[in-house]
Amino acid sequence: MTKYFEVLRRDGPARLGKLLLERQIGTPSLLTTDDFRSAGSIFRHSSLEDAASAAQALIESRAEGKMLAIMPYAPAFLRAEPSVILPPTKMNEPKGVVLQPFSSEEPDEADVYVLAFAGVLRNPRDLISAVVGARNCIPPDTALYAPALATPANLAFLVYLGIDLLDSTRVVADGLLGRYHTRDGVWDAKDLSELPCRCEHCRKLADKRDDGKLLAAHNLLKLEEELLVVRETIRSENIREYVERQVRVTPDLTASLRVLDQEHRYLEMRTPQQRRSTFFANTGESLQRVEVTRFAERVIQRYKAPQSDVLLLLPCSARKPYSMSRSHRLFAEAIGSHHRYLHELILTSPLALVPRELEEVYPAASYDVPVTGRWDLEERAWLCKCLDAYLEKNRYAKIVSHLDGELEEAVKSHGIDAVYTGGGTNGQALARLSEAIAQACHGAARLPDARLLRYRALADVYFGSGAGEALLAGKVQIRGRELQDERKKPLAMLTVNGALALSLEGAKRIEPLGRYIVTIGDFMPKGSLLAPGVVDADSEIRPGDEVIVRGKFAWGLGKAKMSGWEMVASRRGVAAELRHMKEIKQ
Ligand SMILES: [Zn+2]
Repeated sequence: MTKYFEVLRRDGPARLGKLLLERQIGTPSLLTTDDFRSAGSIFRHSSLEDAASAAQALIESRAEGKMLAIMPYAPAFLRAEPSVILPPTKMNEPKGVVLQPFSSEEPDEADVYVLAFAGVLRNPRDLISAVVGARNCIPPDTALYAPALATPANLAFLVYLGIDLLDSTRVVADGLLGRYHTRDGVWDAKDLSELPCRCEHCRKLADKRDDGKLLAAHNLLKLEEELLVVRETIRSENIREYVERQVRVTPDLTASLRVLDQEHRYLEMRTPQQRRSTFFANTGESLQRVEVTRFAERVIQRYKAPQSDVLLLLPCSARKPYSMSRSHRLFAEAIGSHHRYLHELILTSPLALVPRELEEVYPAASYDVPVTGRWDLEERAWLCKCLDAYLEKNRYAKIVSHLDGELEEAVKSHGIDAVYTGGGTNGQALARLSEAIAQACHGAARLPDARLLRYRALADVYFGSGAGEALLAGKVQIRGRELQDERKKPLAMLTVNGALALSLEGAKRIEPLGRYIVTIGDFMPKGSLLAPGVVDADSEIRPGDEVIVRGKFAWGLGKAKMSGWEMVASRRGVAAELRHMKEIKQ
């Protein structure tokens, strides 16, 4: 099954895909009645046999082209199990199956699942729990269709939630009832003194505000326009930023995003390791984002700070990476040659802690946050929680804090034992920093080469604890952006976007840790590794991760295009793009 649907790109739970009916439908999309035939409720038929033969007739009658055939279903109340379980139908054509929300029954195989009751799931908790539950019980390479739900205002959120197919039912019905939709909400058309749209339907509506057909046509146009915008946000990998902004339209939508953020595992399993777009932390919800919690979790659990007697706490800068900013250049000058005797940790919102070695890692190198100098209670609590965990694991004899304003106050009042300079970048402030550092570093041990520390930190962050030690074992050296072994063979490279690219030699050193491994069948893949070829994959793998690909006949490296669990559960789609593959001669 699922011969007719394929996911092409992902940005969190939102996906771009293609549904192969008579017309190829690029998803997310609006399904029309020309795209499917439905056998309907079993109670439309006089017996179960009749319903089964209606399904059969549906399959056979589609001589005019491939349409989605939606199998008969047994209606039930919301939160009730279906009254009758129908035997599965085998077919080679595109198949749709109605999914009862909150049901514990395993659904029949299908290409498209139709979420029953979607239109009445207006309560945020019901909606999120129905869709998350549906996605968790159907294979990842199938499409989810939620009828009678979409409006221009909620479309972005519904797609981000993981719905691939929607329709125009609700906006058309609303239009006929005199309701006027835009991305900013819905109004009674009669209450608007001016229509905020210049489409051809609205020009005609100026004189006859109660023309339901014109209102429906305008509503549909707005929904289609919004769909184009949403598709573009997935392509440019910033749907989350768009959704955080769009949900402000109503409290219900904002509540929906907050409820979805509580489904952290659902989001984490689907969030890529890296995005091309800049991460905007514009709202309170940004603090809950997977990118934030994942980065903090990796800094605290995977990363191990180098052995150092002195820790220097610094504030972040608007320019990224921080060391390119004016303030951090001034700090570096003030620190001078003492930098070899201390370790630097940058404090920032919403990422909390960025060790200097990780400043070029996503999202540390590409986030933007409205700077006001204020630290609210939630931000303070998050920062202090991370700092406690960090200092519990990484011990320093002395801490120098060159923080100012509310940030300094937050750290100080939390009881961190440090020399507080008061921060700042003017001459006096830098002199205070210089002096505090000179005193703290007196008698301190010298740290290893900062470039080596960076490779170690990156390997730990990307491949888990111990990876840095494995990669840098023995005698290693650095040439340009390349880490080499003692025979000058490359082990790894720093990429322009701050990630670590392994060589085959480097991968061999990491492989014994058993992480980020994709096991394939007995063949030699070329170019792209397709999901059906995957036998097993580390469940930690996320889109964009560097993976080790191994099988009986092949061994090499690639970049994951889907999560590890998705590679295992999918029968279509590109699992990884391969970079180096070596054939294993038998
Ligand atoms: Zn209009």
